[in-house]
Amino acid sequence: MNNLQTLTRNNIWNAVDDYFRHTYSTEVRDDISAAFVDRLADDTIESKRELRDLFRQSSGWNENLQAIIINGTKTHNPDYILVHNLANSILTPAKHDADWRKIDLIDRAISFFSRPNNQPDSYIDAINELAPHAYAPRKKRSRIFKAICDSLGVTDNSAGSDFQKLFAKFADELSTRKIDFKLFVSINPAHFLTMSNPKDDERGTMLTSCHSFNYTDLQYNCGCSGYARDKYTFIVFTAADPDNPETLNNRKTSRQIFAYKPYNGLLLQSRLYNTNGGTCGNQAESKLYRDLIQRELSELEGVPNLWQTERYCGNKHGVYFRKGEGFGGYCDWSHRDFNAKISIRADHAHDFQTFEIGTYGLCISCGDETSEGLYCSGCDSDEHEFCQECEERCRETFDVINSYGERIHVCAACLDEHYRFCERCEEYRPKDEFVDSVCRHCHELEEVSA
Ligand SMILES: [Zn+2]
Ligand SMILES: [Zn+2]
Ligand SMILES: [Zn+2]
Ligand SMILES: [Zn+2]
Repeated sequence: MNNLQTLTRNNIWNAVDDYFRHTYSTEVRDDISAAFVDRLADDTIESKRELRDLFRQSSGWNENLQAIIINGTKTHNPDYILVHNLANSILTPAKHDADWRKIDLIDRAISFFSRPNNQPDSYIDAINELAPHAYAPRKKRSRIFKAICDSLGVTDNSAGSDFQKLFAKFADELSTRKIDFKLFVSINPAHFLTMSNPKDDERGTMLTSCHSFNYTDLQYNCGCSGYARDKYTFIVFTAADPDNPETLNNRKTSRQIFAYKPYNGLLLQSRLYNTNGGTCGNQAESKLYRDLIQRELSELEGVPNLWQTERYCGNKHGVYFRKGEGFGGYCDWSHRDFNAKISIRADHAHDFQTFEIGTYGLCISCGDETSEGLYCSGCDSDEHEFCQECEERCRETFDVINSYGERIHVCAACLDEHYRFCERCEEYRPKDEFVDSVCRHCHELEEVSA
């Protein structure tokens, strides 16, 4: 066994211990087997290889956690000397052939950005004279600068131009903030399994969802291992006490699924969950997390950090993320209210590819693939019924009359696929035996009596 295998298996077992430590809903704990843990570790080591190769180059990478940690040391407040130098480099071409008065206006316009606490009125006057309409009171400062560039004729939007590179650095420096928390950017299966905190936590329940790993009555938590085993999903989260390792596995304070194929320039940011659970609509943290992830990815790939972001649902690029075959999780990104975002980076604006999200999960008992809940149908102790249509074990069966006129018991899936309820005789009958809204038998009876 190599180091990463040992590490990953240990990480998963620790996460399981942590997850069930403070909850009294522990019935699935004893079913979690080495077959499950070993396969999950092996599968994710393989499937997340591309993301791991990229993330490992980050100065914030933590090999033991299999995550990048973005914190106060990795972030900083704007360096205004750098802001000045970048703005000056960008606008220098406009100073050629300019008279002393115009040069003075350009210098004062630059000071609007590099000396934010000093004489703003004189700087705004200079901007208004150089580039009417560029300035507006609540307009984003990088956009004001961009409008000045446009007006002075220095903008060069061709991909990879010096202008693009310098402008991206300028905009980043202007809006950078030193953060006072730790943001974990993880590909660790331990963090996927524990993506939603346990239900019935004796410390008080928070950030639970249908993905909570100690639910047996809901089926979507299959998606925990289903996200872990796909290629391009990673989980971004904060924890109640980052210095207390168990809280990474049992007390997350926010979490969000992102998906990114390395060197492809297309980022998906799914629904934000915070201490209250799943959120709807725009959230301030979401914007901050996205900004930090974008900076990180661009830095890792060595390209200008220029992204265009829009709402995923109904996006104008026709970008569509399919769920992978067998994925049994809740597809948050596809619901409009949950406000998933896509961002497209300038260097791949015309050649990015979409990809699938999620795949089969694993049965916690035998380690086989499954698409529903925590157990495969063979291991699910609730499955003591037998479907006479598909001849599989199932949780519950329904009485129907089949096409041979025999009364049989079928599972919910077969019922849904092949049968329809006749309001007249109050029986489930084969769908293809319906005339209008009644079954053939009732229809024939009607014709006789008519
Ligand atoms: Zn099983
Ligand atoms: Zn069936
Ligand atoms: Zn069945
Ligand atoms: Zn009928």
